[in-house]
Order: sequence, then C-alpha cells, then structure tokens
Amino acid sequence: MFCPKCGKEINDDAVVCVNCGCSVKKEPEKSQEYDEPKTGIGVLLGLFLGLIGLIIGICMYPEGTVARNTFIKAWVITFLVTGAVAFILILIFYFVGMAAITYI
Ligand SMILES: [Zn+2]
Repeated sequence: MFCPKCGKEINDDAVVCVNCGCSVKKEPEKSQEYDEPKTGIGVLLGLFLGLIGLIIGICMYPEGTVARNTFIKAWVITFLVTGAVAFILILIFYFVGMAAITYI
C-alpha cells in the first residue's frame, strides 16, 4: 500500500510510515452501515405483522358488526401510534449514530 500522507510505498502490514512516520493504520469498518439494513428489516417486519393482524381480525369478525368496526378503529390507532413511536426512535438512533461517528 501507499502512505496517505507522503505517498511512498510501504509494507501492507505497516502501522506507521517508515518515510514520514505518520500513522497509516487502517480504520476498522464502521458497524453503522450494517445496522441500517437491520432497522429497515425490522420496520418492514413490523408492517408485515401488523397487516397480517388486520387481515386475521377482519376474517374473525363478520362484516358490518360493531366488533369489526371497533377492531378496525383500534387497529388503525395502534398502527399509527406504533408507527409514529418507531419513526421517532429511528430518527433518534440515526442522529445519535451520526453524532457518534462525527465525534470519534
Ligand atoms: Zn509517509
């Protein structure tokens, strides 16, 4: 590899450049890149399970009954509240993660 500071060719395993003495240690890959897809999968799984719950609920209650309407209302409220909370948490974790990367 080549020293990022002086450009001189150095050993691939070198920690410091033999020419200028600057640190050439490779930075470990940030785990943040791997966390983001997991968050996306979690959100998709939540949406998927929520929709399955809605479908099961609709199948359980006969059409036009009070129980069915109540169930749908309750489901929509729960879904919106859960979605809003999840969205806020994702935003918080995102900004905390970005701040952590900036200060490291
Ligand atoms: Zn150098």
